[in-house]
Amino acid sequence: MNISVIGTGYVGLVTGAGLAAKKHNVICADKSSEKIATLQSGGLPIWEEGLEEILKEAKAQQAISFTTNITQAIQKSDLILIAVGTPSLADGDADLSQIYNIGSLIARESTTDKIVVLKSTVPPGTGDNLKTLLNESSNHGVTFEVVSNPEFLRQGSAVSDFFYPSRIIVGCSTDEARKAMEQLYKSFPCTIQFCDRKSAETIKYAANSFLAMKISYMNMLATLSEELGADINEIKEGIGSDPRIGSDFLNPGLGFGGSCLPKDIKAFMKTGANHAVPMTLLQEVLKINEKQPDLIINKLKSFLGTLKGATISIMGLSFKPNTDDLRDAPSIKLVHHLLEEGATVRAYDPLVHVYPLDEVSLFPDPYTTVEDSDAVIFVTEWDEFKSLNWKSIVSNLRLPLILDGRNMFELKEMKKIADQHDLIYCSIGRPNIY
Ligand code: NAD
Repeated sequence: MNISVIGTGYVGLVTGAGLAAKKHNVICADKSSEKIATLQSGGLPIWEEGLEEILKEAKAQQAISFTTNITQAIQKSDLILIAVGTPSLADGDADLSQIYNIGSLIARESTTDKIVVLKSTVPPGTGDNLKTLLNESSNHGVTFEVVSNPEFLRQGSAVSDFFYPSRIIVGCSTDEARKAMEQLYKSFPCTIQFCDRKSAETIKYAANSFLAMKISYMNMLATLSEELGADINEIKEGIGSDPRIGSDFLNPGLGFGGSCLPKDIKAFMKTGANHAVPMTLLQEVLKINEKQPDLIINKLKSFLGTLKGATISIMGLSFKPNTDDLRDAPSIKLVHHLLEEGATVRAYDPLVHVYPLDEVSLFPDPYTTVEDSDAVIFVTEWDEFKSLNWKSIVSNLRLPLILDGRNMFELKEMKKIADQHDLIYCSIGRPNIY
């Protein structure tokens, strides 16, 4: 199929590369000339495991090209996938200006019938509105169908999620669009759920809100667990082994971040409000999430007293492991708080080499980072932290205080290490180790 993907970010680039690997002809179009120049010269504007390899192969097969000429991309394609951003407005609603800008361009420039596929996460009803806009402002008497095909890939495992999705959701209203989507996804090893557009759009928000709800629920339990002197990881294992609950997404910690969960929950709450359905459950989910970084700060203060003049090392800055993405990362909230309290902040992240706050000094490895620090906070659960040389960490620290914001380490293991190296280990919802 001749496909264009408009918006070459995390979703658009992985989708474009993946579809090219599946033998479709793909044009990836973006308004950012910098991004497109990087891609044309063989570079990558983002890091995702396996992305470089599939892009190289797709380029070698001449199955993919990159352009800033969006009009040309539109005119050369039968299927247009929209993967532009839908950030939060000040009132929490989704900013759909990027979607409608592309919609107007498609309406103006299309000279043949098109199927327009919304990959971006949008409030229920957006697909219907886009279809009206396209068909009412069509310049050349062409017909448009709009499909809602929300994306569920996770940053950090986006390429593998693309090829092995848990399910594919397609919301459309014509047989022709349904057939095109069956053709697009014919070799994917999962079921395609066909439904109406509004249901498809709602599924995306409902799924992300549910996942966020699991995290905040566990964070609430972790706070109670600390008061009780219980161990949240035992509680997690005990409830997660009930198949009705499931063991995924039950990790307490510094809270969720990233470019999707916080914004999608806010937009979903706005959808509820627009239809006079109070989504107060989600309000609590966000409230608990906001508080999580403060819990670590309070623990830190309980040992150090004031943070004024203290030096704190941060391990991991990205919003989750295996990505370089800092959008809405919990590290940012935490670092702001530390700086406001007068601390000096040093940091290390395997993939983040530029940080939006100049006051933070970045170091090339964990050991030089912790030099002369009063405490270390583990913020992102990168695998490489699991094989740290604790002797070197402790000997470089001024005070041997370790705060684990992701419960990365086993209590038993940390007890052994604490006995050998005389450190203090605090995590979330579990007893401290001295
Ligand atoms: P992103 O910011 O990485 O990429 C968006 C791209 O769109 C940017 O490169 C931008 O330059 C481009 N763009 C904006 N306006 C344009 C225009 N008029 N013409 C051409 N290009 C334009 O965003 P993302 O993380 O890929 O997310 C895209 C959408 O997918 C959002 O709605 C998001 O909620 C959703 N989503 C994201 C993820 C994720 O993990 N990042 C997962 C599922 C769904």
